[in-house]
Amino acid sequence: MKYDVVIIGGGPIGLNCAIEAKKANLSYIILEKGVLVNSLYNFPTNMTFFSTSNLLEIGDVPFIAHGDKPTRRESLEYFRRVQESWDLQVSLYTEVTGMTSSDDGYLIQTTKGVFEGKNVVVATGFYDTPRMLDIPGEDLPKVKHYYDDPHPYVDQKVVVIGAANSACDVALETYYKGAEVTMVIRESEIYPKVKYWIRPNIENRIKAGEIKAYFNSTVEEIKATEVIINTPEGRITLPNDFVLSMTGYKPNYTLFDRLGLHISDDGHKTPIHDEKTLETPLKGVYVAGVINAGLQTSKLFIENTRQHSATIMESILKSMH
Ligand SMILES: Cc1cc2nc3c(=O)[nH]c(=O)nc-3n(C[C@H](O)[C@H](O)[C@H](O)COP(=O)(O)OP(=O)(O)OC[C@H]3O[C@@H](n4cnc5c(N)ncnc54)[C@H](O)[C@@H]3O)c2cc1C
Repeated sequence: MKYDVVIIGGGPIGLNCAIEAKKANLSYIILEKGVLVNSLYNFPTNMTFFSTSNLLEIGDVPFIAHGDKPTRRESLEYFRRVQESWDLQVSLYTEVTGMTSSDDGYLIQTTKGVFEGKNVVVATGFYDTPRMLDIPGEDLPKVKHYYDDPHPYVDQKVVVIGAANSACDVALETYYKGAEVTMVIRESEIYPKVKYWIRPNIENRIKAGEIKAYFNSTVEEIKATEVIINTPEGRITLPNDFVLSMTGYKPNYTLFDRLGLHISDDGHKTPIHDEKTLETPLKGVYVAGVINAGLQTSKLFIENTRQHSATIMESILKSMH
């Protein structure tokens, strides 16, 4: 079957694109390499969103959460209900590996065979590719780029690298569960945009000496039982059991290359697209969701990319008439 629209990525924005395609009576399929809303599923177990639930809503499905900010678990139930309510066609565990053009569209190669679409929407997010430090020892099993639960770190010496939301959440949660936490922070302060209810907490734990923090410092090398850091006072060796490297994520540029997407050379590495229609230079291929900001991963969120879906479907409908 040749679909009007093939949507790559079953995250919140991929789902929203499917809803808009359905509203426009276009045939569509979502190809998702993992589980439904795979990125959200892989967020830390006890995570709370910084957005209020109404700002995460799609497809007019109300998002009822117990607190003012929903939890990861509530978000999984919410997006499952969205998929069920709209009866969205999703092929899960279907990883897209490449794309070539066909007579009237594109052939999309996946781990479950080839799909054909007249139009393609790429909504693959940025959570699959951690930003690496490229230092010796980063490949040791004790170094984690994803954090799920505090329990493995009970009574352990943990180095947390970074000072943005994830790093602060992880430092606090592991500290409260009895880890000995040291933060290594490249900048001179905690990232100013850290959630307003988290920032005073982490700053006070640091002031009280409960969490140790080295500012203006970087990790030079990770060894089996130690971490070597560069501080303004010189090189220091810390005894260490685990390194939680919370230095952020970036879009999967290898995949972009395989899809034939071009990248801006202004340092932000955004997939090149028309700001008005979100169409890329490849006719009928669109980009949606957080990937549109490239490396500026704190610029776009669910709440300010929900509109992408309607914009894209409008452009597709126009191109078909
Ligand atoms: C810890 C954390 C907390 C956050 N909190 C918030 C918040 O409170 N509010 C907010 O608005 N945003 C928040 N964000 C940002 C949030 O991740 C994004 O806004 C949201 O997930 C983006 O939706 P998306 O659909 O663009 O991408 P994603 O949700 O990342 O979805 C992309 C999907 O594409 C799939 N995919 C990737 N490659 C392939 C492939 N080759 N083939 C098939 N499928 C593929 C992935 O598995 C994934 O399911 C947070 C991010 C993080 C990391």
